Amino acid sequence: LVKDDPILYRAGVAPDRQALFEIATGRQLTYAELDARIARCTGLLTGVLGARRDGARVAMLARNSMDSIVLAFACQRAGAIYVPLNWRLNAAELLPILADCAPALLVHDEEFSAVVASLVDADPEMVVMSTSGGPAALAARIEASLPAGQVPADADGACVLLYTSGTTGQPKGVVITRRNAFFAAVNFSFVGEIGPETVALCDLPFFHTIGLIAVARTTLMLGGTLVVSDRFTPARTLAALADRQRAVTHYFAVPQIALALRGDAAYSAAALSGLHALFVGGAPLTQALIESYLDDGVALVNGYGMSEAGTVLHVPIDRRAVQDNPGSVGLPAPLIDIRIVGEDGREVDEGEIGELWLRGPAVTPGYWNKPGETAAAFTDGWYRTGDLGRREANGFYRIVDRLKDMYISGGENVYPAEVEAALVSHPDILDAAVVGIPDTRWGECGIAYVVLRPGAAATGEAIAGHCAERLAAFKRPAGIVFVETIPRTASGKVQKHVLRQLHSDETL
Ligand code: ATP
Ligand code: MG
Repeated sequence: LVKDDPILYRAGVAPDRQALFEIATGRQLTYAELDARIARCTGLLTGVLGARRDGARVAMLARNSMDSIVLAFACQRAGAIYVPLNWRLNAAELLPILADCAPALLVHDEEFSAVVASLVDADPEMVVMSTSGGPAALAARIEASLPAGQVPADADGACVLLYTSGTTGQPKGVVITRRNAFFAAVNFSFVGEIGPETVALCDLPFFHTIGLIAVARTTLMLGGTLVVSDRFTPARTLAALADRQRAVTHYFAVPQIALALRGDAAYSAAALSGLHALFVGGAPLTQALIESYLDDGVALVNGYGMSEAGTVLHVPIDRRAVQDNPGSVGLPAPLIDIRIVGEDGREVDEGEIGELWLRGPAVTPGYWNKPGETAAAFTDGWYRTGDLGRREANGFYRIVDRLKDMYISGGENVYPAEVEAALVSHPDILDAAVVGIPDTRWGECGIAYVVLRPGAAATGEAIAGHCAERLAAFKRPAGIVFVETIPRTASGKVQKHVLRQLHSDETL
């Protein structure tokens, strides 16, 4: 079962249950129909890839659709590797990723044809196929193909290559084996309480682990219904959540999306009242956002995970747990071992800050084509996340910051996330990011990049005063720079390396 795709099992036990619903078109598939479509798509891949099929990369540059799911599982059946690409990237950003994974086949939406046109020159061997629009397109060719079955497969072979968000630098290709995918879904099924009654709405892109693995794969593996949305707009999502006939039980958002929903004119607590929980993860959450949802009676549960391991920690779906542990990322998923390790490589005491190390069947064996980065990220079989956290007396965990972003000022560790939380608690501040820069006197000091709310006029002195009331002297930013926006990844994470570069360019 671990080496086969889970749809085979579901089509056997509940063939008539609804597997997929596509919001953009209204199309739907039962598990039997999904299985049959995957079989035809497997036949198509076998024909297109031929003898090169085993381990071949099949890249997809497309918005979420039913056929993204079909292609992903067909790759697993055919022995190929599904590589969902981030369509928010431009051609220059995609080029190194394509060079890295060297796909035999690239499937794309018409919407991205111009980008694809500038990429094909790099590899004339690559077969290119559009998702729709005529007999040469994926949809029509799936229908015209003969079904093919699962090829003999190794549970430790790759089935997905997932590029990281690129928050700390170039995106890295994370190898997801069949075993990893299976156990990542098992992990999320526990923390997300997913089962055959689940109706999960997914408008997070399938090119990140949350959308593809936590939401899509887990829901389908456990026999629920996956509602596929090709874009997030607050109005569309709120309408889908409020639709009592569709009866969505699970919705996963990144913090930026949870914020946009809550702030939208069409928002009402009633629209979300059918949800078992509102899952949020992928980046730090503000306390104000957690409380605003709690006030509305919505169970917003924070979770922590990454491309390399899937779901790692999650707040239990329980109002008391959310209320009693503000800002926490909760308890470990059942099939993950966690250690918190200090600079000396030993586990730290309870409550102390250290780096999170992970082990378990959902954890990747390493990065594609990057033996150096893989070696640097693993110690004695443990994956070192690069994230700092601590475990509290009740077993709940907190994420403090990324190790790469921490800096040392006058011998004291400063965690920019704490400084940023103090900054955004100022009523005039919309967004803020703090980076450590070299300083002759203190070793390093912090520079705060601040975005003011429209019409707000807080001065640097006022903000410094606000920080002085909340933060010890060594944590206060040495400089405040007003900016229009903070550079973020597609999933809303602050790209600190861009800010550090900006600072060094400006001081040259
Ligand atoms: P890159 O590895 O390319 O720098 P990335 O680490 O942002 O990018 P992902 O794998 O998509 O790529 O994101 C995982 C990271 O997101 C985690 O390592 C952690 O730093 C951050 N993260 C995830 N969930 C949370 C959360 N709930 N709170 C705070 N940070 C989180
Ligand atoms: Mg990372």
